[in-house]
Amino acid sequence: MLKAGLSGGIGSGKTTVSKVFQTLGIPVFYADQVVKELYNTHEGLHNAMINLLGPSIYVDGKIQIKELAASVFKDKQLLLQVNALTHPLVEEVFDNWTAQQNAPYVMHEAAILFESGIAAKMDVTISITAPEVLRIQRVMQRDLCTEEQVTLRIASQWSDEQRNAKAGFVIINDEKRALLPQVIAIHEKILNRI
Ligand code: ATP
Repeated sequence: MLKAGLSGGIGSGKTTVSKVFQTLGIPVFYADQVVKELYNTHEGLHNAMINLLGPSIYVDGKIQIKELAASVFKDKQLLLQVNALTHPLVEEVFDNWTAQQNAPYVMHEAAILFESGIAAKMDVTISITAPEVLRIQRVMQRDLCTEEQVTLRIASQWSDEQRNAKAGFVIINDEKRALLPQVIAIHEKILNRI
């Protein structure tokens, strides 16, 4: 089955665009959600995370996502170590999930699709871009967090320019250009490749 990868920085609109692909009948794999579940359900990962970050990173068996984000987004080395633990597991879950889908193609959505190397395993890739001021505003409003928290996260990810240079397709989500025609045009081009 053809695999499409969808990525964009925090607040770029990955989830928003993914929902449009879902309405077109395309199953979407939300890698960032899968990672959050794996922290709580995969025993090996649970133990490795405690080794890396100490036992307080779990409370009642649940990963403390805010504390984890605060630690990894100010320590690049730690972020790389956590990613190295999670990536092979996510890939395995994705492969199993893909095998169960019945659709023209599947979509793998991930914030760090390109950084993690997963993009290289996709048949096509899409980058969603949006002006940084907009992304910061959107996330502050959605997550009720500070500008500093959002910019710290942005600094840990690739820039739009880096993602766009690697991606086969680029979607501009600047609230000026309409999203739907952009998504439909890409969907049709992917279908034509099958
Ligand atoms: P994250 O990396 O944090 O998961 P994301 O890339 O998935 O973010 P979304 O959650 O899709 O981004 O969008 C961030 C916020 O901006 C959401 O609250 C969403 O509703 C809003 N948003 C996204 N695109 C638009 C748009 N074109 N017009 C208005 N609001 C938008």
